[in-house]
Amino acid sequence: MRALIVEDEPELMSFLSSLLLGAGFIVDRTSSVEAALAALKTAPFDIAVVDRRLPDGDGLSIVKAMKATEPRPAFLILTARDAKSDVIDGLNGGADDYLVKPFEPGELIARIRVIARRRYPGRSLVITAGNLSIDIEGRNASVSAVPLDLRRREALILEALVQRAGRVVTRNVLIEAVYGFDDLIESNTLEAQISRLRRKLKEAAANVEISSLRGIGYILRKSEQPV
Ligand code: CA
Repeated sequence: MRALIVEDEPELMSFLSSLLLGAGFIVDRTSSVEAALAALKTAPFDIAVVDRRLPDGDGLSIVKAMKATEPRPAFLILTARDAKSDVIDGLNGGADDYLVKPFEPGELIARIRVIARRRYPGRSLVITAGNLSIDIEGRNASVSAVPLDLRRREALILEALVQRAGRVVTRNVLIEAVYGFDDLIESNTLEAQISRLRRKLKEAAANVEISSLRGIGYILRKSEQPV
């Protein structure tokens, strides 16, 4: 899943990003209302963690501005004040949840998972293709219940492919699912990750494989000759 952090205090920003990166999110960072709205218009985010006090206004105005937009991310508002009115404003303004600073890291992650789950009702948290399964919350992949050792981006690529198993996934869709704005993407990076994934799937005797469609993208399907 892809998260946008909107926070103007550098220390809190780096704390929040390492927390979310550690929880398996793709993370983008912005520090103003204006930059956040521009980011939200450019890429699909699942979650936005938004501070209220931003240099160019109230973070809640981002939530309000996105209210009628579909798809919109789930919003978690951070507030330094625990005044009841702040919390009520936040929820009335369309936020999905709020957290009062300072907060426990574990609580932030737990709340993000709750709103993410609410956002995708009925979506199973374990997705499968053949003997491969991925727990998209913990981002653990396994083949016939044996865990696969994947790097973070490999797991995200595999998740995007398994969610669309049997269908073509374009390079752009994969890149959007896996990289943030600030990531430097070299032209062969995705290909290198796909080839590592192929090797790992093969070594684990997965009965699915990733095929390339030259110039278009990739497709995950059943292996023609199961290993
Ligand atoms: Ca602030």
